[in-house]
Amino acid sequence: LYTGPTANEVLKKRKEFLSPSTYYFYEKPVNLVHGKMQYVFDDDGHRYLDAFGGIATVGCGHCHPDVVKAVINQTKNLQHSTVLYLNHAIADFAEALASKLPGDLKVVFFTNSGTEANELAVTMARLYTGCHDIISLRNAYHGNEAGTMAATALCNWKFNLVQSGVHHAMNPDPYRGIFGSDGEMYAKDVQDLIQFGTCGHVAAFISEAIQGVAGIVELAPGYLPAVYSIIRNAGGLCIADEVQTGFARTGSHFWGFEVHGVVPDIVTMAKGIGNGIPLGAVVTTPEIAEVLTHRTYFNTFGGNPVCTAAGLAILRVIEKEKLQENAHVVGSYLKQRLNALKAKHETIGDVRGRGLMLGVELVTDRRRKTPAKVETLHLMEQMKDMGLLIGKGGYYENVLRITPPLCFSKEDAGRFIQHIYHPHSLSLLFC
Ligand code: PMP
Repeated sequence: LYTGPTANEVLKKRKEFLSPSTYYFYEKPVNLVHGKMQYVFDDDGHRYLDAFGGIATVGCGHCHPDVVKAVINQTKNLQHSTVLYLNHAIADFAEALASKLPGDLKVVFFTNSGTEANELAVTMARLYTGCHDIISLRNAYHGNEAGTMAATALCNWKFNLVQSGVHHAMNPDPYRGIFGSDGEMYAKDVQDLIQFGTCGHVAAFISEAIQGVAGIVELAPGYLPAVYSIIRNAGGLCIADEVQTGFARTGSHFWGFEVHGVVPDIVTMAKGIGNGIPLGAVVTTPEIAEVLTHRTYFNTFGGNPVCTAAGLAILRVIEKEKLQENAHVVGSYLKQRLNALKAKHETIGDVRGRGLMLGVELVTDRRRKTPAKVETLHLMEQMKDMGLLIGKGGYYENVLRITPPLCFSKEDAGRFIQHIYHPHSLSLLFC
């Protein structure tokens, strides 16, 4: 039984001692004290089915025993910096990670976060090409430091600071974009940006394969292959931000970019790589990696022995428990059930995503696609009260984000549908 501080006590301390920008979900925030696979528990012993933890941290399940064991064992043996000395945990995980990537993508730089990974990727692209200009997509989220905030293109995530050298291309969003699902038409905007907004050469193009923070937006088919070719003709590198889509989340593939049939020059990752442990990585080719040898480059703790021991254990769990296959099977089932709801209820404007990275966009008017922001918040509250945690996202904050740990079962998916379709939630949404 939990006997620690109550939600109110934690909240009081948080208000007094933590950054005022730290936010939380729900009118009455949940005080989580324990996690087990796809479940989390609050201070009152209430159990919640966690349909959002996958994106915040957890891929293979809260407190997975294999990962806990790997962390404990390595902590008992040695925790140290990543640089200066040799340690097998770091090299072993780098080797295992590189084996999951195609082509010549086999040099790994470890970081502590996704922001750091993207900052490094952009830096390497600029050094390698000798160009400064970066192209990213409107609606993208890539991090919150100088370079990555520049690449992020959602005004609610950007401060008014100098953010130079990034051009934001039209988002190939099949639901709200002006060219619908015509990927090649959106790609033309990238060509125009290069032609009219740069000297004709660029350093890189960076994008997610499915935009996460933006509200689970899939890129129109054909877009990425067309853009990759445009960028390479302009001398640039293609960076895939796999912070949310990587590590089997999309089900059909291990990496999100694979769905589009492209091979990037640089791949960045975080979140799922560490199952809650602070870990990120940049993987690139030996030729591109070489640019960082021109000066001293290091990261004291990125990929330290404890984090990389965890990383290796996570990769093994994904393989052993066939979590990619599970994400595909359970995700397809859940998407099909959500689409069946959409056929019945006008409030559901769009259902999208792949594997266990799904989005449900709620609208008050289907034809005008009027965002149902208040209703989305209300539904989240209702579902929480019924024991189910879910996320939200999108510029209008009207998209339910469903990104559970990859061990989410078909029964869990069924329960999720029952909750979304429960008379409580129905009363506001589906009448
Ligand atoms: N890229 C993407 C696609 C993300 O979703 C995020 C985090 N939401 C980041 C980068 C930044 O990762 P971190 O918060 O670990 O810095």
